[in-house]
Amino acid sequence: MSVRRIMGIETEYGIAVPGQSWANPMTASGVVLTTYARAHGLRAGHGAWDYSDEHPLVDARGFEMPRARADISQLTDAEDPTLANVVLANGARLYVDHAHPEYSSPEVTSPRDVVVWDRAGELVMREVVERLADSPPGINLYKNNTDGKGASYGTHENYLVSRATPFDRIVGGLTPFFVARQVMCGAGRVGIGQESERTGYQMSSRSDFFEAEVGLETTFKRPIINTRDEPHADPDVWRRLHVIIGDANQADVANLVKVGSTSLVLRLIEADAIDRDLTLLHPITALRTISHDPTCRATVRLRDGRELTAVQILTEYLEMASAFVEREGSDPATDEVLGHWERLLGLLAGDPMDAAADIDWVAKLALLQRYRDRDGLEWGDPRLAAIDIQWSDVRPAKGIFHKLEAAGRITRLTTDEEVRRAVAEPPEDTRAWLRGRVVEHFGDAVVSASWDSLVLRLPGPGRVARIPLLDPLAHGRSATEDLVSAGDVDDLVAGLGA
Ligand code: ATP
Ligand code: MG
Ligand code: MG
Repeated sequence: MSVRRIMGIETEYGIAVPGQSWANPMTASGVVLTTYARAHGLRAGHGAWDYSDEHPLVDARGFEMPRARADISQLTDAEDPTLANVVLANGARLYVDHAHPEYSSPEVTSPRDVVVWDRAGELVMREVVERLADSPPGINLYKNNTDGKGASYGTHENYLVSRATPFDRIVGGLTPFFVARQVMCGAGRVGIGQESERTGYQMSSRSDFFEAEVGLETTFKRPIINTRDEPHADPDVWRRLHVIIGDANQADVANLVKVGSTSLVLRLIEADAIDRDLTLLHPITALRTISHDPTCRATVRLRDGRELTAVQILTEYLEMASAFVEREGSDPATDEVLGHWERLLGLLAGDPMDAAADIDWVAKLALLQRYRDRDGLEWGDPRLAAIDIQWSDVRPAKGIFHKLEAAGRITRLTTDEEVRRAVAEPPEDTRAWLRGRVVEHFGDAVVSASWDSLVLRLPGPGRVARIPLLDPLAHGRSATEDLVSAGDVDDLVAGLGA
């Protein structure tokens, strides 16, 4: 059976302006965007985002969704950085969301490709920082999710899920999994509480910021299950599950297991193959209990009275996923995910510190512990908080994670070469291929773009064509390469039937 699932990760990067000579991080984020756009000949308006969605925006429970709508003519001026968007040659979207520069990866179909194109975003951000290094005051970017002082910004996973799957089943099946999976893919954080009111270390940087079980919001009263329902695909057939609970990963294994295991659990839910009740009595409390216990021994209470550790909960999911795959047939990508998933649970059930090469929070804790032992530092020592920030600095010479990885202390599943290629090239098996190639070859003709459409200017006065791209699996390389390389925009549009 086909196991391909359309997925993508959005990452808002932390931004620091040394000296604070910019009062407004929004302006600084705009500088990040325009620096990259100019360096790559991506004009404002060139790839401006098309907000003129054809579908009504309704959340999964049927509420109408509030949504900023922008006029495309405004976007072409791009004076307000909050309206600025560019589409990159790899099919990704680079824009300013709230006060952060955000890279939204192109649509891919395997967990491994998620990791590769998410890492490509790190190189985009790194390039900007390097370009700005000589122009004071400099801007720094961090692949993290909190400034440690009360602000939190998101990393969102997106999964294409069958519309036929009842939303209640998604909520029931995913909630215990999301509460538990942080042991395998948390990014680690110095400080407990949203404003680090208490000293200590926890496994997830986001867990203290979640306050609701299900809801539409993403920036306050954050819910474990987000109900945003903007499918960017045929809304009768698909939903885009928007996952806002999760940390930005730098470690390949943790990132792969995060999306790979989640995609497998979604397969179980779609097939109605969750045959155990893992409902938690208090999911929000459990989220914190698990995050605040780096020994991985804390238990949380289930509705049926059982007390389980996060590792035990995830083992139940792994057993169901393995049995399902055995029944339905497997493939190498799925086997890779299951292999790492099982291996990580084995390490965490023994001594969690043995997972220091694979999981961000463990790697960070191992490093912090060395400083604590050497210098006798308490968890409240500001030097540890500073190391926490420096951990995710995108610069290879400064970012502590990058230095550990370069020293061979972190398991790699990707190569530098394939990640570099993924900055310039879109994935071949989704519509991102056409989007990226059109930006590359017909850049001047692009009026606007969105996940599910392209608007192109044609030769001759006032001629514009809108190309709908409602099927994320269509318009890949094999279907569109000849049209794009023919080099004529009229032929392209005719060939695409628009
Ligand atoms: P935000 O949460 O920042 O307001 P957003 O959730 O509306 O933004 P984008 O930042 O535009 O979304 O990013 C959308 C992500 O979803 C991208 O990573 C993209 O690859 C992925 N994506 C696009 N279409 C689909 C789809 N049909 N199913 C699953 N993922 C998709
Ligand atoms: Mg986004
Ligand atoms: Mg999002």
